[in-house]
Amino acid sequence: MFSRRFFLKQTLLASTTALLYGGWWHRRALFLGQEDSKHAKPRLPVVIATWDNRSATAAAWNILSAGGRALDAVEAGARVAEADPNDTSVGYGGLPDRDGNVTLDACIMDEKGNAGSVTYLQHIKHPVSVARRIMEKTPHVILSGDGALAFALQEGFPKENLLTEEARRQWEAWKIKSEYKPVINRERHDTIGILALDMQGRLSGACSTSGLAFKMRGRVGDSPIIGAGLFVDNEIGAATATGLGELVLKTLGSFLIVEEMRRGKHPQRATELAIRRIAYKYPQQARENQVGFLALDRLGRHGAFSLQPGFNYALYQDGQNRLFEADSLFSR
Ligand code: ASP
Repeated sequence: MFSRRFFLKQTLLASTTALLYGGWWHRRALFLGQEDSKHAKPRLPVVIATWDNRSATAAAWNILSAGGRALDAVEAGARVAEADPNDTSVGYGGLPDRDGNVTLDACIMDEKGNAGSVTYLQHIKHPVSVARRIMEKTPHVILSGDGALAFALQEGFPKENLLTEEARRQWEAWKIKSEYKPVINRERHDTIGILALDMQGRLSGACSTSGLAFKMRGRVGDSPIIGAGLFVDNEIGAATATGLGELVLKTLGSFLIVEEMRRGKHPQRATELAIRRIAYKYPQQARENQVGFLALDRLGRHGAFSLQPGFNYALYQDGQNRLFEADSLFSR
C-alpha cells in the first residue's frame, strides 16, 4: 500500500512536471509560429484581399455582415475589381497579351472544397462568375479558351469588348519600346485574390486576373490554378497569391500555406515559409520579381508576406476596412 504522504509527493511532482513541460511546450509552439488555437475565439466575419482592393472588401463585407455566405462575398468582391476599368490587371481594362488580346484567368473555391476555374477566357467581363458556374453546373473544375467562352455564352454572360482605350494606348506604347518580351511589372500588380470567413464559419476564396501585361499569347498564370493562386480547406484555412505566377506555380504556394497551417503554423508564419521556399528554390528570380501571399485561418487570423516591399492588402474585420503593407523578405 502507498502511504498518503508518498501519494501526495507523487502528485506534486507530476503537476510540477506538467506545468514546466506545459510552459516549455507553449514557448516551443510560439517559437515555431504555432499558437494554441484550440481555445481561441474566432473573429468573424472577416474578408481580406490583395492590393488596395478596399472597394472589393467593402462589397464582400456587405454580404458577410448581413449573415451571408462567404462564397457570395468573395464573388461579389472579385466582381468589383473585374468591372473597374482603372484596374489594369483584372477583367475589363486589363492589359492585353502581346498581340492585343485581353485574356482572363479566374477561380473560386467554396467551404466544401468545390472548385471552379476558367483560363484564357476572352470577351467576358466576369470570369469569376463563369468559374462559379463551372463549379456549380458542370462535373469539371477547369474550362479553357474557346470552350470556356462557349459555356459562358450558353449561360447567358454577355460578350463584350474588354480592351479599353487606355489599355490599348499602353499596349501600343509597349510595342514601340519593347523587344516584344512578356514583361512583369514588379511594382504594381492588381490581381485580386480574396478570402472570406462568414459568421457561420464558412471559408471561401476567389482569384481573378488578366495575367502578366503583354504576356505571350496563350500564357496562363497561377491565378486560376487551384493550389497555386488559391486554395481553401474549410477545416484549416485559405490562401491566395499575386505576383509572378510562374514562381507561384512552381512551388504551389497557396496549397503549401494551407498545409503549413494544417501542421499548426500561424497564417503569418505560413506565408513567410512559402515566400522563403520561392527564394530558396529560385534565388535569382526571387530577387528580381514580386510575389505576395495572403492567408486566413478558420479563427479569422490572417497572414501576409511578400518577396519585395510594397505589397499591400485590404482587411475588413471588426467593422473596419483597412489597408496594410505586408512585411517582405527583401528590403528596398
Ligand atoms: N499572378 C498573376 C499572374 O501571374 C499576375 C499578378 O498577380 O499580377 O498571372
